[in-house]
Amino acid sequence: MMPRRSTLALGVSLLNAALIPFMLLAAMGFLLSVSAHILSLLGIQIPGGNAVMGLHIGILAVWLPAVLVSRPVAKFGNRWGSLKILLGGCPRWMIYGVMALFIYAIVNFLVFMGNAPNQSHLDAGWPPSVVRGFSGHWMLFYAAAFSILYSRIHAPQLFAPRKCPAGHTSSPSARFCPECGFAFQERPRNT
Ligand SMILES: [Zn+2]
Repeated sequence: MMPRRSTLALGVSLLNAALIPFMLLAAMGFLLSVSAHILSLLGIQIPGGNAVMGLHIGILAVWLPAVLVSRPVAKFGNRWGSLKILLGGCPRWMIYGVMALFIYAIVNFLVFMGNAPNQSHLDAGWPPSVVRGFSGHWMLFYAAAFSILYSRIHAPQLFAPRKCPAGHTSSPSARFCPECGFAFQERPRNT
């Protein structure tokens, strides 16, 4: 029988092996979204007609694993607190990058709403203005999914709920057990 510690390590490496392809897919989706966004800003029609819609669907493929690894964290505390835990294993520049993309996506979408073309223009593929409107969000979603998966792969310890010696379960970010006040040791960050 394997000692518990290496069983745990094996579990982590198996999960990482499963998550890494999705992280790479998110990186690819992000780069394609950035390219689509730059082309749309330049007013260039993206070749391949509706193929650009693939980026819309690709988001689902990378969000599913991102949501699955987030679930044990999300059930504790509020949304912002959870986000802090979820991105805890990322380098600072990555967190600031996601925040910047969040603000940019909102501004970009408001600009898009201000001069959206009417439906009849959509028949001949996606005009640059529409691609511009959507790709702001694509960049954000791919970058956020990438960051959550990156964090989970590099700092899995940050995602595990904490347990005090009395057996109470609390949030991964808890510093004290809410039930008995036990003080947890700080968890090491990878950055
Ligand atoms: Zn406790």
